[in-house]
Amino acid sequence: MLKRWGILIIAPFLLSSCGLFNKDGIYNITFDSSVPDEQKELLTQDLEVIESLNFSGVSSDDLDKIDLPELSSNSLGNFLKERIRYIVGESYDADTKRTIVSSSYNYNPSVFASFSSPFDRIVTVMTNTGSSVYLAGKKSNVLYSLDVADENILINTTRVGIIKIGEGLFSSTKLKSSSSSSLARRLLRLSTLFHEARHSDGNGSNAGFPHTKCTYGDFAGYYACESNTNGPYNLEAMLLRHFYRACSNCNETELSAIQLAASDAASRLVYGAVKRNSQPEFVR
Ligand SMILES: [Zn+2]
Repeated sequence: MLKRWGILIIAPFLLSSCGLFNKDGIYNITFDSSVPDEQKELLTQDLEVIESLNFSGVSSDDLDKIDLPELSSNSLGNFLKERIRYIVGESYDADTKRTIVSSSYNYNPSVFASFSSPFDRIVTVMTNTGSSVYLAGKKSNVLYSLDVADENILINTTRVGIIKIGEGLFSSTKLKSSSSSSLARRLLRLSTLFHEARHSDGNGSNAGFPHTKCTYGDFAGYYACESNTNGPYNLEAMLLRHFYRACSNCNETELSAIQLAASDAASRLVYGAVKRNSQPEFVR
């Protein structure tokens, strides 16, 4: 019995020394060295905010958009944990980090980005790099791997969960007047994280919950619209409406920024949008 305990206690140390347990963040999210320390700290604290969230007035329609049985800090934390495993910095270049596991194909993943702010110019906020590389590989029958956070990750599912910080995540033009550590800006960044998390889902022709091209408005011509009622934008819009209520002690400017972000996200839904199966797909 004693020996068995000994093995159980020693094993984690052995694993941690070879990096398997070297998960440094909340929800086991690992930050790549390309993420600047200041951003890593802000994002870590953003994630901690989830634990303090309380939800009320959650409708079955809300739950339908995120495919969860309930909306709570616990269910949302697990939602992210299953879909975001690594966060890489703006300087992370998937092209130089990828290895062809079989065959060869050149591509430039760009579909899975959240675009922000029609107020000045359009910038990328975050990108689900793992999901886009998976889909690029799928399209050309090539299996890739990516170097991230000192690991080599086989890109065999939309759930690989490598999320890249974009130019707009910390330089929010929506809420310049508030500090980047304000609750309002944290909630706005969290809504983006949940948006990107949804790009880790889906299967078949809807693998990665791809955006559709907008045909009118500020984003006309961009893949920044939504044809799924349970897709990234609509899920983001739903969460932002709850985050609005959770933004305690937020000032009028902050509250209207959240409200604006919620209506912007909701406005991306195209006519005839339907709910789709969110189960992720894998190859072995
Ligand atoms: Zn997106």
